[in-house]
Amino acid sequence: MIPRTLFSSDHELFRDSVRKFLEQEAVPFHAQWEKDGHIDRQLWNKAGEAGMLCSHIPEEYGGMAADFLYSAVVIEEVGRLGLTGIGFSLHSDIVAPYILHYGSEALKHKYLPKLVSGEMVTAIAMTEPGAGSDLQGVKTTAVLDGDEYVINGSKTFITNGFLADLVIVVAKTDPKAGAKGTSLFLVEANTPGFTKGKRLEKVGMKAQDTSELFFQDVRVPRENLLGQAGMGFAYLMQELPQERLTVGIGALASAEAALHWTLDYTRERKAFGKAIADFQNTRFKLAEMATEIQVGRVFVDRCLELHLQGKLDVPTAAMLKYWGTDLQCKVLDECVQLHGGYGYMWEYPVARAWADARVQRIYAGTNEIMKEIIARSFI
Ligand SMILES: Cc1cc2nc3c(=O)[nH]c(=O)nc-3n(C[C@H](O)[C@H](O)[C@H](O)COP(=O)(O)OP(=O)(O)OC[C@H]3O[C@@H](n4cnc5c(N)ncnc54)[C@H](O)[C@@H]3O)c2cc1C
Repeated sequence: MIPRTLFSSDHELFRDSVRKFLEQEAVPFHAQWEKDGHIDRQLWNKAGEAGMLCSHIPEEYGGMAADFLYSAVVIEEVGRLGLTGIGFSLHSDIVAPYILHYGSEALKHKYLPKLVSGEMVTAIAMTEPGAGSDLQGVKTTAVLDGDEYVINGSKTFITNGFLADLVIVVAKTDPKAGAKGTSLFLVEANTPGFTKGKRLEKVGMKAQDTSELFFQDVRVPRENLLGQAGMGFAYLMQELPQERLTVGIGALASAEAALHWTLDYTRERKAFGKAIADFQNTRFKLAEMATEIQVGRVFVDRCLELHLQGKLDVPTAAMLKYWGTDLQCKVLDECVQLHGGYGYMWEYPVARAWADARVQRIYAGTNEIMKEIIARSFI
């Protein structure tokens, strides 16, 4: 195996502490959280105390000014343990950067320390019942009225939506201007007119709360606009590569974990007088998966390296998201097959991971949209 050289001994120490934290605070409870449809709210505060949230945020806003590899460690350990209910990465690596990069000093001081501590859980609401891939079709509006914006509309499929205290809402400030009329707003969950719909029942990722959100004459101070009016689409395009990188990192971690579970299982399980792992088909499947995961791992690490240098471009992040999540689903499917009937039983981690993996090809931009982005970059 090619050794990973990107992570220092400090990153590995952090990895040990993240793994211990998750094994103690999340693994024993995750099955119950799947039944509840959301994780325990307290986990956010505990994770904040343990330094696992928004570690990249500068110290002046309560963070540790850590490099992105610390975020990658959290994503990898959550993925390795199959804790798909935990939406830390969306909070830390997707929502927080919008506030950090486009929020005013007042907004940064007001909110970022609470994101770091877990006092506030966050979400980002782009998708609407009528607009997913085509974000220019967003119908939610934000109309300036004196010193306040008045938001009307509805959102769906919002991760962390049920527990969220603070949501970035994508809305049109100038509906006639297309992409150039799109803006981003910070909306606190207790603002009058903001309601949460039912928690959506999903095929997998059952412990991750995914909700509808409704906005009826929701008034937010003008200062809650992130950056400039009309620049929302440009900000989304700027930040989406990091979101796609996080999905790719999680995909590889999940595939690697499934390979290890399958190796253990096929060594133990016997048929026709020998271990399943001794059949040539099994050995070849395991060898193929190990090879593809190795190729993917090298690609993830190269993308991480580029990202640390500020050089991860949009098409490359799209390649990782599409190829990594396709690989994850392919590996999970093979792993279920090698488990036989037990691979289809919910109590087996491989069954859960298989169901959980499917959405990776859909959210954060579908894999078809990723291919459009890649194609557009060179054809
Ligand atoms: C569990 C889960 C969590 C999510 N979390 C969030 C969240 O936190 N915040 C948020 O805002 N959204 C979230 N989403 C929404 C997600 O990002 C969208 O579902 C996704 O972008 C696809 O949009 P859609 O569902 O409207 O599908 P559509 O856009 O209707 O697509 C349907 C099909 O058409 C294809 N298609 C569409 N356009 C093209 C094209 N130009 N070329 C080729 N094929 C195309 C798509 O690839 C897809 O196969 C989540 C979704 C799920 C399921």
